[in-house]
Amino acid sequence: MTRHFKISVLPGDGIGPEVVRQVHRITDWLAGSRGLEFEIKEGLVGGASIDRHGVPLTDETLADAMAADAVLLGAVGGPKWDAVDFAVRPEAGLLRLRKEMGLFANLRPALVFPSLADASPLKRDIVEGLDIMIVRELTGGVYFGEPRGIETLPDGQRRGVNTQVYTTSEIRRVAAVAFDLARRRQKRVCSVDKANVMESGRLWREEVTALRNESFEDIELSHMYADNCAMQLIRNPKQFDVIVTDNLFGDMLSDEAAMLTGSLGMLPSASLGAVDEKGKRKALYEPVHGSAPDIAGKELANPIATLLSFAMMLRYSFDEGETAGLIEAAIQKVLAGGIRTTDIMAKGMARVSTGVMGDSILRELGKLSR
Ligand code: NAD
Repeated sequence: MTRHFKISVLPGDGIGPEVVRQVHRITDWLAGSRGLEFEIKEGLVGGASIDRHGVPLTDETLADAMAADAVLLGAVGGPKWDAVDFAVRPEAGLLRLRKEMGLFANLRPALVFPSLADASPLKRDIVEGLDIMIVRELTGGVYFGEPRGIETLPDGQRRGVNTQVYTTSEIRRVAAVAFDLARRRQKRVCSVDKANVMESGRLWREEVTALRNESFEDIELSHMYADNCAMQLIRNPKQFDVIVTDNLFGDMLSDEAAMLTGSLGMLPSASLGAVDEKGKRKALYEPVHGSAPDIAGKELANPIATLLSFAMMLRYSFDEGETAGLIEAAIQKVLAGGIRTTDIMAKGMARVSTGVMGDSILRELGKLSR
């Protein structure tokens, strides 16, 4: 039976359109050979939308994104729009999209393909085969808590305030995402907080534990303080399966974990919202990298981060884990065969363009599915 999916595709700026083009080639291939049907509606976001409509995201594009089963985004921004007023900057389009879609859980896998293990700043044996997932709470915590601001005190000093605040439901919904993910992986979740010095951290730990005991008894739960986690990610990252943490710690730890893999052009991400009455979850998939204006338009960009983001969409939004695995396996084969874009180039390898990387992955997909 043919399965039908509605995707909103927002290529954005800089290398965004170049890397997203390679996803279209994969969806065409999947439609022809795996019985998946994709209804794709493309829209403008970021600088591209500012140039056409004067705003970084129109209400129509937002409505299309809200109506889709999932959204795929390239990247936004670039020097052309640096002087634009903050409220209508390219990034404001992405922020509006995230806010309106209620995306509260950010998923950042750190995956080291064996053939790229030498690109990591850590030793090969520490990172080879690494496969961890960091789930970061995205809409609460100290970046949004009230009161906030800078005030002048009676004695003339100034005082800056931000508030770390979490409620039961905010903690439980992101923890549930982490437990759900763990069920499709090695069934282990490490919850990261600072319960030793922060009340919000103590609540975090209590609620995550309670949720696990109520609904996820098959998942092994451990707890770790955030400072120790930062250290363990360098010392022995392979001890982790899924890490769940708050907005602030997740911001730092997901970037740290990203560096373990060595290349920005290889890093996918997903942001998930609540499950609606039809059982569907709002979801946006995008590479971690930006619009890379320095290489835009030159066919030098690595499309793999975007292709892996699309594979995440297949797995987490469409329950097509097998197809996602096929794409990941094809990428692994291509890398093992010595094909490299400039960003991951190494001695003795073949340097190729964005399009040729796409060709190579398609060729491997064909072979793998024979
Ligand atoms: P960047 O991620 O765009 O680029 C950093 C460096 O990595 C550059 O040298 C770039 O050439 C390289 N790079 C990035 N992605 C690559 C890929 N797929 N293949 C090969 N090389 C790649 O970060 P930046 O330079 O700090 O920002 C450029 C613009 O992107 C800015 O306007 C910034 O605001 C925006 N940005 C957008 C997002 C987003 O859309 N989510 C994220 C980060 C930055």
